[in-house]
Amino acid sequence: MTSRYKIKSLNGRGFAVFCGRKRVSTPSSSMSMAEQKMYALERRDKRAGRINRSCITCGESFPSDGPGNRMCKTCQANASEIFTGVV
Ligand SMILES: [Zn+2]
Repeated sequence: MTSRYKIKSLNGRGFAVFCGRKRVSTPSSSMSMAEQKMYALERRDKRAGRINRSCITCGESFPSDGPGNRMCKTCQANASEIFTGVV
């Protein structure tokens, strides 16, 4: 399973965990400290049942809220607009 988190160097000012382009941890002075924070975040996601799934509509990988959540936020918003008119 690939992680949605990445460790990036903060231009010589330590390391931090990123989720996409967003920094999700406080800066750490070493790579291994940043890794610990990344693992903690992954464990938290796992407990919440939140893993990356492919959207059934657009195929984009997105953080799912649970087994029943198979559509990304963008498609969910679009779908609810479409369905209102159909029924
Ligand atoms: Zn989608």
